Amino acid sequence: MKPTKVAFSQQDSAAETSSGLAALRAIVGAQHVSTSYEDRLAASDPYAPAEWEEQMLPLAVVHPGSTEEVQALVRAANEHGLNLWPVSRGKNNGYGGQSPRSSTSVVVHLGRMNQILEINEELAYAVVEPGVSFFDLYEALGEIDHRLWMDCPDLGWGSVLGNALEHGIGYTNYGDRASSICGMEVVLPTGEILRTGMGALPDSPTWHAAKRTYGPSVDELFMQSNLGIVTRVGVWLMPAPECYAHGIITVPEDAHLEPLVDLCRKFVLDGTLEGQPVLFPPMAAMTMMMKKKDIHPEDGPIPAEVIAAMAKAFGLGTWNVKFPMYGREAEVDLRLETLRRAVEETIPGGAVVVQKYRGLPPLNSSQSEKVHAGVPSLDMLEMLNFLGGDQPDGHMMFSPILPFTGRHAREVLDLVDKALSKLGIEYGTNFVMHGRYLTGLCLPYLPKGDVAVAERLLKALQALIVTAAEQGYAEYRTHVLLSDVVADQLDFNNHVLMRTLESIKDALDPRGILAPGRAGIWPSHLRETGIARS
Ligand code: ADP
Repeated sequence: MKPTKVAFSQQDSAAETSSGLAALRAIVGAQHVSTSYEDRLAASDPYAPAEWEEQMLPLAVVHPGSTEEVQALVRAANEHGLNLWPVSRGKNNGYGGQSPRSSTSVVVHLGRMNQILEINEELAYAVVEPGVSFFDLYEALGEIDHRLWMDCPDLGWGSVLGNALEHGIGYTNYGDRASSICGMEVVLPTGEILRTGMGALPDSPTWHAAKRTYGPSVDELFMQSNLGIVTRVGVWLMPAPECYAHGIITVPEDAHLEPLVDLCRKFVLDGTLEGQPVLFPPMAAMTMMMKKKDIHPEDGPIPAEVIAAMAKAFGLGTWNVKFPMYGREAEVDLRLETLRRAVEETIPGGAVVVQKYRGLPPLNSSQSEKVHAGVPSLDMLEMLNFLGGDQPDGHMMFSPILPFTGRHAREVLDLVDKALSKLGIEYGTNFVMHGRYLTGLCLPYLPKGDVAVAERLLKALQALIVTAAEQGYAEYRTHVLLSDVVADQLDFNNHVLMRTLESIKDALDPRGILAPGRAGIWPSHLRETGIARS
């Protein structure tokens, strides 16, 4: 299967495109607009094989430096019939990176807009522009001695704002990152500026403290969508706890998966467990610490007994849960003891290992200890060297949402195995635990430059998305090449959800200039011509 990206032209005129690009240059300065192959390649999917390039590369890349420039770009795009595809720092790797859905889109890279506009210690929030990375925010919080802690995903190089808009996941109490956003500034497809929530009241001191004002809230409409370019958000922070504990629950048998998940649900719901604990197989940890050739120097997936022996050597179980706890030390100790007793009583051979800190864990602690305390790192990049080729490999994610029960976790693991085990590639599935649901993060490796594997994997994922939907599971996030198939599964009452989103798209963006096809939402002229969802 080839990627089903569409290469359409709105106006179909090279002259119009070049006058459009000239207009963009006049707005941001010629040095901030690039049509070079290298820059377009950098604004694409870093994991896609070279054979897909034609469809993955954007038309050009533009780097605005201010909200006013973003407004002017949007107006010029309307005038010249250009498509704009906004990214913040563009590290959406595994889901298509910066690559737009259509190769006639211009990537609007917001990395130059990188100001931390406010850190409000009293109300525990920060206000950031799109180009602010997790490393930037962490460094700024260092200036107030980390009295406030932030949340971050596994890799710290992405954008605080962009990752939250993409429904990114972190691991602290603020790890549902979209929910920790409060108050946005958005450039609408007409070029007008909208401020959400309390921001509708000029100079309101509660813009980034309270999410709702009178009437409907529209913030979520600008997340995983194509209805505006977000130029600033408030993000809630956590007061530094007296004590931070990081633990790992290990269980020896595969059959312990169900009781382990069900036990964790009970403790997440009653508050004994906090943050976003993660259920993981031992390979997830080993891929960061070892190379495949040191474990199993032969072709093909690593046999289960080899994995079991390695897990034992690392003190891991067949299944494991890493988790944080925060609070006063006596409270943390009480909760740890409750958890330990329950694990030991419920699961034969189950154990809990804990490390406690006063303050943040040191930078040489494990990736998991850091990320559960909101300390950004790039440690997890090491995984991409696991297969041991000349260059780092890639991956393409399958990320379903499922009820927080052992039974459903098993069902999803079986679905994934059925779809991927025959491909002969390495993959593993983690489950991030939220209140009442799990997010499955299945990560199949994409060996660098192997187009045959990439095409087989894409096809298998497409089929898996459909089968999973038949069993009631939809994705929380997907690769740009799979956005239509994921959106197509949301078909209750003749796709009324997608039809409603399309009506909103047509009302806010009548010329369809902003990110056509993003999240499966296409503007009317492309729906009518049948180009959309081809
Ligand atoms: P990160 O660098 O944090 O991983 P990205 O910049 O890659 O995040 O953004 C992820 C996705 O979210 C992008 O592909 C884009 O579709 C959307 N997005 C990012 N920033 C914005 C923004 N400022 N306004 C609207 N959509 C955005």
